[in-house]
Amino acid sequence: MDIRYFDNAATTPVKEAVLEEMFPFLSVEYGNPSSIYGLGRRAKRAIEEARSRVASLLKCKPNEIIFTSCGTESDNMALKGMAMFQKNINSGKNHIITSKIEHPAILNTCSTLEEQGFEVTYLDVDKNGFVNIETLMNSISDKTFLISIMYANNEIGTIEPIYKIAKIAKSHGVIFHTDAVQAVGNVDIDVKKMGIDMLSLSGHKLYAPKGVGALYVREGIELKKFLDGGHQEKDKRAGTENVAEIVALGKACELAEKNLDEYIIKLKGFRDYFFNQITQKLKNIRINGDLEKRLPGNCNICFEGIESSDLLLKLDAVGICASGGSACSSGDSAPSHVLSAIGVPNNIAKGALRISFGDFNTMEDVEFLVSTIEDIISTQN
Ligand code: PLP
Repeated sequence: MDIRYFDNAATTPVKEAVLEEMFPFLSVEYGNPSSIYGLGRRAKRAIEEARSRVASLLKCKPNEIIFTSCGTESDNMALKGMAMFQKNINSGKNHIITSKIEHPAILNTCSTLEEQGFEVTYLDVDKNGFVNIETLMNSISDKTFLISIMYANNEIGTIEPIYKIAKIAKSHGVIFHTDAVQAVGNVDIDVKKMGIDMLSLSGHKLYAPKGVGALYVREGIELKKFLDGGHQEKDKRAGTENVAEIVALGKACELAEKNLDEYIIKLKGFRDYFFNQITQKLKNIRINGDLEKRLPGNCNICFEGIESSDLLLKLDAVGICASGGSACSSGDSAPSHVLSAIGVPNNIAKGALRISFGDFNTMEDVEFLVSTIEDIISTQN
């Protein structure tokens, strides 16, 4: 049976060109980048090349990129690193603003910080998942040191008004971090033009392997070091570098930058075709998230009267991989916190299906997906 993979927001397959580039660093080029002989120097050079490629995709300077082990680590580093820095310098600031629809990597980091005495405001979002700019502005106090709002939501694909949020943060002297794990490689990001101070990304959402990520930290911003140990990553993140994966991330970013326009057009084509067909062919459905300001490959639909676990098993039986919400919450019977936040009633949220298209999909796959869903839902109703 052929596998048709529509869960690219959970993870992406690794591209051949990425594998090829990383492979020598898992075999012959095994040097430690801290070693001074040729083998070590070549590993170091490969890391610096990767850093430049990541920086080029985000349009920042290479020295503003810190490699991490994943998006979750990048989020933790940004929030805890900044919180501990404020504590160390006795800034008197203890307040963070975030939203109710963030990924658990942000939400759970915030609750840990609350246990340590920090205060967190969790902003509501509207029915399409947007943070309200005025509410955000009214939530800032003289104790606020950080605003962390995701670039694009992992379940419903809504793209937040990042430029406006960054502008407000700047005008109040507050640092702005964005979890862009779902956005990098899917939208054009210019951290300088947009006024972003810190940005998290993850390799496995853009065709590099799992286990590598990065945090962009604008020059001049200081974080309390999160992992203690050696002086790697210019003393910002200890631990011998994961050279092969860093090289892979660099290559994935280079490919993303080169192909971004075409990629967006391709994914939007699949997405819009899927939405059109499903809304024409089926009744009692609800599309979640904004239709315009949305990740190019994201579709999120609720089918009334359907349990998404049932639907996913039936799709799996014909080789279709999709998700009921985010990968992190699948297997969890509680309704998605994102769908609850946008006001989807629990009985409808239970029937949510997230489809996320990727580079390896074809139009024929998408047609197969539509007709399979149509068959399953119409025989169930
Ligand atoms: N943030 C968002 C928005 C995500 O979608 C994910 C993963 O799905 C993460 C953070 C965590 O990234 P990682 O899996 O690399 O830890």
